[in-house]
Amino acid sequence: MYSVGIDLGGTSAQVVVINKGEILFQTSIVVRDSSSVQYILDDLSGCIDEFFVGHSEHVSSIGIAFPSIVDAYNNKILSRYVKYPDAMDFDLEKWVKMKFGATLFLENDARAALIGEYHFGRAKGYHNSCMLTLGTGIGSAVMLEGKLLRGSNHLAGNLLGHTIIQYEGGKCNCNGVGCAESEGSGWWLNNKFHEINRGDLCSQGFKALLAPENVRSPVFQNILAQLIKVYKTTMINAVHCYDPELIVLGGGIAEGVSAYIPEFQAAIDEHCWTPSGAVKIMKSALGSYAGAIGAACLDRTTSRRTPSNAS
Ligand SMILES: [Zn+2]
Repeated sequence: MYSVGIDLGGTSAQVVVINKGEILFQTSIVVRDSSSVQYILDDLSGCIDEFFVGHSEHVSSIGIAFPSIVDAYNNKILSRYVKYPDAMDFDLEKWVKMKFGATLFLENDARAALIGEYHFGRAKGYHNSCMLTLGTGIGSAVMLEGKLLRGSNHLAGNLLGHTIIQYEGGKCNCNGVGCAESEGSGWWLNNKFHEINRGDLCSQGFKALLAPENVRSPVFQNILAQLIKVYKTTMINAVHCYDPELIVLGGGIAEGVSAYIPEFQAAIDEHCWTPSGAVKIMKSALGSYAGAIGAACLDRTTSRRTPSNAS
């Protein structure tokens, strides 16, 4: 039984093929046009077809991780993402059926990343874990006692980036004020670069803060300090909300931020009610493929069509 997993990011999409618990293939493709989800699906379809040339078996399921609120029970995208404006109305189930004769499993990208880490990466053996995806925004997902949290409106565990950490803080893109994202995130960082007339650094993101020519500048040091403080606070909130054994850091900024893990660990030990050392913080083992690998596992693990079947 071949399972395909797809992680539909805004600038690149990852695709993996899994069979009998083994990752057989993984690749990343650049999104050439995000004005419609159809373009990237066409490209992905060509990529999947190429893998299956010469294989006698076919795809049984396709899991798709998408960066928005997702109703995994009914395969519905519930909130608009800045890219792929037609994705909410696009019949992904029909596309998967017509193109591959397969079953679709749709999931939020942070949840899919946590599932990937649970089966193949850092969260293996941990039944209480939290995933933070640090990129343009702050995505999150939570697994408690081996069960992925979804909640009554499919939001549970997904919105740590929108927990309020500064109640008189900046305006957030969720219409809230002082959210973790609006106080420190990839998009907040880009706003800061513009504020200091260094919009040219937006393409470098977090790396620009650690570049030799910037690292000694108090302006850049202050920006970095605030970003690290926001991530630290978000982790403390995650521990107090969900009591995980493990927090996995993924997303585009995770690589650069991983040097600060001892600092995050110390903050949790100092400020959380949990015993010292009870919560581990680790960088994702699967990197940019965590979401696609998790999406390929959706058929056999945490995502089912009816809540009563979820496990
Ligand atoms: Zn917000």
